[in-house]
Amino acid sequence: MFFIDYIDNKKIVKSTLIDECDVFFTTRDICIYSKEEDMSYNRKVVEKFLGQKLATNHPVHGVEIAEVEKDKFFYENVDGLLLKKGMAAFHNFGDCVPLVLYAKGKVIISHAGWRGTAKCMAKVSVDRLIKETGCEASDVKAIVGPSICFDCYEVGKDVYGELSKTVNNTEEIFREKDDKYFVDLKGINKQQLIECGVDMIDVCPYCTNCGEKMFYSFRYEKTGNRHSVVVKV
Ligand SMILES: [Zn+2]
Repeated sequence: MFFIDYIDNKKIVKSTLIDECDVFFTTRDICIYSKEEDMSYNRKVVEKFLGQKLATNHPVHGVEIAEVEKDKFFYENVDGLLLKKGMAAFHNFGDCVPLVLYAKGKVIISHAGWRGTAKCMAKVSVDRLIKETGCEASDVKAIVGPSICFDCYEVGKDVYGELSKTVNNTEEIFREKDDKYFVDLKGINKQQLIECGVDMIDVCPYCTNCGEKMFYSFRYEKTGNRHSVVVKV
């Protein structure tokens, strides 16, 4: 279950699912890349809270996952980060789905926009975590973070077709009406996880575009602003 919490009087969103390490999502209150001049301030708020410098990555909508190394804080051209005990990282999102997977003391943070979802980033991440830890899929805890909701996410027919090929059960996560195509990107990632054998899954109910507007939406605001997922293992 998701709930709202605060660090340094700034709103964050957390899940009760993974209690073995710190996992939270920043909101508009603490956007790490909100403005050039605010970047270091905002990032420092999180780093001060965690007592640790954060690693991050530049995503390219692929499925590469890099293992975070001590004293290396930037990872180019990867969409996932693998963290072990003592490591901390953040990753920025607009409307794409942030995934956080935990098993046996290791975490993978993944970026699953429609392209990453079409390439089954959730499955790639589960497989990698199983390989790294020797766990079973049923040991994996998975958080599907804040992202654009079903009603807000209209896509082209081609994207709709690509995404529908990634799951066996498309009920309630795809909708076609009057030549308009809608997809539930969080729901598709959840379904991919279920079809991998993961059953401990917490899906964030908040949309990055509608509702309380706690987050930034790249698709509709086009400001370059982002919210982040932050993990300290
Ligand atoms: Zn929405």
